[in-house]
Amino acid sequence: MRSVLAGDLGGTKCRFALITEDFGVYGAQRVDTVRVREPFLANMRRAIEATLAEGRALGIDAPSAVGVGAAGVIGVNGESLGAPPNLPLAGFGLRSWLHELTGAPVHLVNDGRASAWGEYLRGHASERDPLLCIFFGTGIGVGLIAGGQAYSGATNAAGEIGHTVYQPGGRRCPCGALGCYEAYCGGRAVTERAQATLGGDGLWDVGRVVAAADGGDGKAIEILDEAALAATTLVSNAAILLNPSAIVLGGGMLSGWPALRERIIQGVQASTDASIHADLAFVPSMGGSDAILWGAAAATGALWQR
Ligand SMILES: [Zn+2]
Repeated sequence: MRSVLAGDLGGTKCRFALITEDFGVYGAQRVDTVRVREPFLANMRRAIEATLAEGRALGIDAPSAVGVGAAGVIGVNGESLGAPPNLPLAGFGLRSWLHELTGAPVHLVNDGRASAWGEYLRGHASERDPLLCIFFGTGIGVGLIAGGQAYSGATNAAGEIGHTVYQPGGRRCPCGALGCYEAYCGGRAVTERAQATLGGDGLWDVGRVVAAADGGDGKAIEILDEAALAATTLVSNAAILLNPSAIVLGGGMLSGWPALRERIIQGVQASTDASIHADLAFVPSMGGSDAILWGAAAATGALWQR
């Protein structure tokens, strides 16, 4: 069975698996993302070697290509990420490193674009075009499929809507700028704000902030209300700009905070014209991380026609 080694490099975790022509996901390995390069690379190497070993044990062909979706802007040369806020890979020759490790041709793709491809190929929104995917994870990933093509922009940098400005001069974003959406409705911002204002043992994740809010904690409610307003504004702006047929909402923050989805949908319907929202479908992510793996595998062109 032919395969591609696919990766999903996110700000909280990284996954690797072998993807087969029937969208099978085999030998999946998950490692936490650490923000120091050497241990990060060592963890990736171990995960990839474990995936390849599992594939051999299952009788799957060695991967003919490697596709990796990564949280950040991929340079036009396809070799490295520019300055990813949540990965310790700024300027690192990731493509060459992966090629040396695997011996196969390597394709790097922005993770938002990879997830949009995966959802389009395999998910609930496969007949919808234009299809907009917005993933609220550690950061915010966006991908647009239009005319059956993933939109990448003039220099491969399209989609970084999380780093457009929500509050000029506002909170510091992990990217270094002030007031980005991601500083208000990215999962990292929510958990760091919870740590700063709610304190405790430092093990905050979005689900725990939601539990605190459900328990009546006023500060937790304030953090979530602020994040929901920013997320709703972001999705509304994207819908007005792009007039998509469907929007896929996904990402780890929505997994930990399912009520956010309905708040966004209601907010978009209230704040956009009927020409935008009347026929707009909101579709749950089918694949989550698997969608990124499918999309990254598709980007190699080794399994399916693009
Ligand atoms: Zn930013």
